[in-house]
Amino acid sequence: MVFLFCLGASVGSFLNVVVYRVPAGLSIVRPGSHCFSCQAPIRWYDNIPILAWFYLRGRCRNCGAKFSIRYALVELFTAILFVMVYKGYFYLGLREPMPAFTHWGWLIYAGHMALICVLLTATLIDAEHWIIPLSVSYTAAIIGLGLSAVWPYCLGEHTQNYWRIIPYAGPKMAAAALGGGLGLLSGLILLKLGLIKRSFAEVEALEKECEQKGVEMPEMKVPIRREMLREAMFLTPSVVLGVLFIKILTGENSVGQWWNSVIIQQKWCAGLLGSLFGFMIGGGVVWATRILGSVAFGKEAMGLGDVHLMAAVGSVLGWVSPTVAFFVAPFFGLGWALLSLVIHRRREIPYGPWLSLATVAVMILFEPIMDYLEVFFIPPVIP
Ligand SMILES: [Zn+2]
Repeated sequence: MVFLFCLGASVGSFLNVVVYRVPAGLSIVRPGSHCFSCQAPIRWYDNIPILAWFYLRGRCRNCGAKFSIRYALVELFTAILFVMVYKGYFYLGLREPMPAFTHWGWLIYAGHMALICVLLTATLIDAEHWIIPLSVSYTAAIIGLGLSAVWPYCLGEHTQNYWRIIPYAGPKMAAAALGGGLGLLSGLILLKLGLIKRSFAEVEALEKECEQKGVEMPEMKVPIRREMLREAMFLTPSVVLGVLFIKILTGENSVGQWWNSVIIQQKWCAGLLGSLFGFMIGGGVVWATRILGSVAFGKEAMGLGDVHLMAAVGSVLGWVSPTVAFFVAPFFGLGWALLSLVIHRRREIPYGPWLSLATVAVMILFEPIMDYLEVFFIPPVIP
């Protein structure tokens, strides 16, 4: 636990770097840590997570510039999360069928902690800049897709329980994921070829033009419903191919039998496609809400950053968790929104932090939530 605390603090230190540099468009590797005021490199003994801030009293040793205590707090918070999730998963048995830590359980823990770190990073950036950089979300998505192909081999024999802890597809879900994934690819190709237009393309072009000329961006009326139609068109191939692949690959014929045997025998396929399905449902639920909400209110509802974030959550946890988290998040956000309306008289709040908080809550309370849902929808899993 001491080791995990120190590891968490060091990871938190790295997250500080990401939160500070990524929105500014700087490299997260070079140059090494330096004072943002006098540019002097920070020596290793002044770069010790949590402690350094206190013995330097929050100042640069070279020029005395003040560092925010936020850096130390993020390090401490990350360290506590590392220890608490470990305790919850491996001592309290919050997640089943979790293998022992020393028996590959650590690999599942590592994936879940990577996701939590991404959620924390997204929260800190979103709260300050009102954006969630795609590179942050995609880090988790790639980790999720990669680990999901390996995870099935860490678990015991009972494959029907796998979905409770890792993304895992049955033949039908796998077919939908494959079709949907190819559909997503076709959508991207259609965009590249210019056969469909990117939403808000005109606004972005104007923004760029104004930036180059150095003039202020003029008021521009965006036909929000047309933009949403473009996004819906981008998603259409995914839905069509997803349904088509279910029809073709899961029929009562030799093709269906072949697909069935592939998914049951090749565990890595079931894991990988389960992760891909989670990616698409996690993102799809938010995206569908964005399109329907924007069309209904004539105003952009939810950002594409939120779509990518929940897609990433789905690729690590499977399709159930982001779906539940999405419906839980408003309750977390509501209290804050009311407070914000009273104090700052602001109607909008960034949504990423609430999605992140809800996701972590669902990760920890997954068992009781599933027991509760099972009463209503038996069983909450696509065969
Ligand atoms: Zn300095």
